[in-house]
Amino acid sequence: MSAVVQECRNCRSLLFPARLFCPVCGEDSFSTVAAEDGTVEQTTTLSDGTVLATLGINGGLRLIARLTGSAPEPGQRVPLTNDPVAGSGANAYIPIPPNLNEDQS
Ligand SMILES: [Zn+2]
Repeated sequence: MSAVVQECRNCRSLLFPARLFCPVCGEDSFSTVAAEDGTVEQTTTLSDGTVLATLGINGGLRLIARLTGSAPEPGQRVPLTNDPVAGSGANAYIPIPPNLNEDQS
């Protein structure tokens, strides 16, 4: 299980959500890298019961994901996944395709 984020091929900045141009260096060439897990920084519960979390991942990138399974505490590391029905325990679901904006060369 993992989620996918963009990495700028010029300056190696990690980006999420996907961009057309790197906001750091202006280049438009990206690869995708897998993010295996993230650390829960904050959570919020929507009126329909959906729980969203701000997660920090390696490299300093922060992203927002939907939590599934059991509710983690802030500071807990949870696995990232593109599967909305990932296994038991806490998971952070990010619904993006694995080839979004990836160069095909
Ligand atoms: Zn860049």
